[in-house]
Amino acid sequence: MTAQPIITFHDGHSIPQVGLGVWQTPQEIAAPTVRTAIAAGYRHIDTASGYDNEEGVGEGIRSSGLDRKDIFVTTKLRNTDQGYDNTLSAFDGSLKKLGSDYVDLYLVHWPSPHRGLYTETWKAFVRIREEGRARSIGVSNFCPEHLERIIGETGVVPVINQIELHPDFQQKAAQEAHRKLGIATESWSPLGQGKFISNPVIGEIAGKYRKTPAQVIIRWHIDTGLVVIPKSVTPSRIEENFKVFDFKLDAADMAAIAKLDDKSARMGPDPYTANF
Ligand code: NAD
Repeated sequence: MTAQPIITFHDGHSIPQVGLGVWQTPQEIAAPTVRTAIAAGYRHIDTASGYDNEEGVGEGIRSSGLDRKDIFVTTKLRNTDQGYDNTLSAFDGSLKKLGSDYVDLYLVHWPSPHRGLYTETWKAFVRIREEGRARSIGVSNFCPEHLERIIGETGVVPVINQIELHPDFQQKAAQEAHRKLGIATESWSPLGQGKFISNPVIGEIAGKYRKTPAQVIIRWHIDTGLVVIPKSVTPSRIEENFKVFDFKLDAADMAAIAKLDDKSARMGPDPYTANF
């Protein structure tokens, strides 16, 4: 197997480009799911306080046979824990649940603009990073206006913004805005929650490489320079989704997929108006 690619952040740390997403992975199966992924070669797990499975993720890593330092772990702050002091205590809670004294990446899950707390929250993130308890800090679902505000008030640029991004919702403007700021882009719901697997353009490309549609979509994220965190709890799919390092899409494939972009294809909430 070809070595898995990494993306280096502006703070010097790096992240394996493909990780396992564990949203909607129940606590009781999180540990075996994480172990399966690590055995398949994954070295990056994406969880969140709001997924209620941090204990299972931590247990899966501890029982994987690898050292904690060999796995890149992301977790996220629950929206209801925003605010300076709340963030500090919520972060302690996440570390405790994960059974670790640090995370590789801590993300503000949503800006939740109606709370008016994301700047104070970001200041707490800066402190957590200065204390070395999060190696890197970033955000999720932040729009350009939210990014400008936290950078303007703290001078600290997030290393990454994790946003909804799949072949029919490519977020090209956000990708470009991130590039200008030195922020990596990470795709959530990279497979369109599985609904995009049957797209005929993807199917044709899959046939050409004798790969599955899921593998083609994951490869598209990699070849676009994105961090990608497909989710599955099915061992065969977890393995399939990681066998993406022995082929590369060509310019014609990339051009065909570029045409699938549809600005109205957002599946999740709009971060400007999401009131949770
Ligand atoms: P996804 O796009 O990764 O799709 C997952 C679904 O696709 C699976 O449940 C399954 O139905 C299907 N699937 C997976 N592998 C397949 C395969 N090989 N063949 C056929 N079907 C397959 O969806 P997701 O879980 O929404 O997103 C991935 C991860 O992104 C999450 O687990 C989470 O870590 C993260 N996420 C973050 C946010 C955020 O607000 N930051 C929001 C949503 C998701």
